[in-house]
Amino acid sequence: MQQRRLGNTGLTVTEVGFGGIPLTRLGLEEGAELVRQAVGLGFRYFDTANLYGDSEVKMGLGLMGLREQVALATKTRARDGDTAARHLEKSLQDLRTDWIDLYQLHNLSEAGGLERVLAPDGAWPMLERAREQGMIRALGFSSHNPDQARAAINSGLFASVQFAFNFVEHDSYQRVFSAGLARGMGLIAMKPLGGGLLQRADLCFRFLQAHPEVVPIPGIQSLAEAQEIRDLYENRRPLSQQDQQDMRAIRAELGERFCHRCEYCLPCEQGVAIPNVMLFQTQQRRFSPEMIKNISSRAMATVENCIECGQCAERCPYDLPIPQMMRELYQQYEQFLAQHGLS
Ligand code: SF4
Ligand code: SF4
Repeated sequence: MQQRRLGNTGLTVTEVGFGGIPLTRLGLEEGAELVRQAVGLGFRYFDTANLYGDSEVKMGLGLMGLREQVALATKTRARDGDTAARHLEKSLQDLRTDWIDLYQLHNLSEAGGLERVLAPDGAWPMLERAREQGMIRALGFSSHNPDQARAAINSGLFASVQFAFNFVEHDSYQRVFSAGLARGMGLIAMKPLGGGLLQRADLCFRFLQAHPEVVPIPGIQSLAEAQEIRDLYENRRPLSQQDQQDMRAIRAELGERFCHRCEYCLPCEQGVAIPNVMLFQTQQRRFSPEMIKNISSRAMATVENCIECGQCAERCPYDLPIPQMMRELYQQYEQFLAQHGLS
């Protein structure tokens, strides 16, 4: 895998990184071993967050003795200095390291978030001190909201921006990354596979390879996945006309109103399993009717608890009309069961 500079972070990373969310699904030693194997395959950029369960612990264990070889990134959801300091200390401990190469403010999407971070008792002054003390090499942020992301970019403070980018959410380039590029920032693509929505890894990575200034960090949960991604980078070819046609067909099939599974809509006080209800959008194209019933029945049963308070829709960074979509999906689900004699 080729290495490249990550914008003006001062870091050198592989052209594709290792996203640490799926480590939470693995056992401790299994997760650590996967991290070791990924280094063996050539991955030199690892991204996690203190919010991702025990991902940092597994990554730290896996990187023992290998730490100097990789660029390590993590994140804090804290907006105030005291909490950010605690999070940084815990990340250093869990990751078994003395320094974080790229420390990111996690999901800087909410209105007023940047102002809170920059306040005298906010996270930013504390993180700058940590950088001066050598605990952090570069500071960046992730976001799901293009307006807030552009505001953070325009502050001129951050060295990198992490945003969802794939061939379905391709407008992220114009909405966010182009502004970051103009400032020489490191550009990091989260959800390169649409958060698991997009099954064609070959199309996803060929699309991203056409944007070499953007470094994707796919979540990886097995050696086979890591090898597939490595192979797609080592044996790259440009998008063919057939690829372009396939991408157009997938975009048209998904439409604009699809759930990105970020779970920011949760919790629902009425116990509605929103992201699991939304999954029906894609499940019906992938699994057998019996499997879909097994997977979806429990989530669909929670839809009737919705009192349409609208709080979930306010929290959704993609502005999805959640209550309305759930009603529609529930109706489609009922029709689907009836069509397949499963009512
Ligand atoms: S609108 Fe329905 S699903 Fe959304 S938070 Fe309110 S009760 Fe829950
Ligand atoms: S409905 Fe919105 S907030 Fe909830 S998981 Fe989907 S995209 Fe995220």
